Amino acid sequence: MTQEIGGFAALGLTQNILAALTAVGYEEPSPIQQQAIPVILAGHDMIGQAQTGTGKTAAFALPLLSRIDPAKREPQALILAPTRELALQVATAFETYSKQMPGLNVVAVYGGAPMGPQLKAIRQGAQVIVATPGRLVDHLRRDEKVLSTIQHLVLDEADEMLKMGFADDLEAVFEEVPEQTQKALFSATMPPGVRTVARKHMKE
Ligand code: AMP
Repeated sequence: MTQEIGGFAALGLTQNILAALTAVGYEEPSPIQQQAIPVILAGHDMIGQAQTGTGKTAAFALPLLSRIDPAKREPQALILAPTRELALQVATAFETYSKQMPGLNVVAVYGGAPMGPQLKAIRQGAQVIVATPGRLVDHLRRDEKVLSTIQHLVLDEADEMLKMGFADDLEAVFEEVPEQTQKALFSATMPPGVRTVARKHMKE
């Protein structure tokens, strides 16, 4: 069995994750996965330039899940995505890759749906929050402590989020996550706005 996932096993992912990858039939890591997984596993900040279809979601989801403690019932990883569709897609990916991690819960937080159930899932200890920036900031206005336990923050499609006018919301989120939060930024393009965000908020 480990032969089938040899490429992934060599990257240092946990057994639970490797088992889930075997179940979905991934055989070899894609180039962005090969490069990003060890860096995120080691706890570093990182910037990845990657288009949709390159396997970028797994490039951050797999190492983050390997680093999350499901026994701790509090939000640990926050992924920001520009649209409800992408947020749902990323949340589904996290669910797929965490099938062998009992107690691991994922909540998708986006506009156009009632806030109550989203907040309840966060308070009940969902370890992974996948959110659109606008709705997440609405939650922050109601409860500024909502992100106080976050340890990992990912901006997915950062260029799209800036294009859609989420710059201020991103700033608000950066301000509310703990100082030592690991940050990863993925973007298809690297316009000046994205570089500015990276320079301002990323240590490495
Ligand atoms: P993404 O770029 O994250 O939107 O992923 C594109 C598609 O590739 C998704 O349907 C993933 O399920 C799939 N995928 C991601 N990584 C791998 C892999 N290493 N092997 C096979 N399929 C993959």
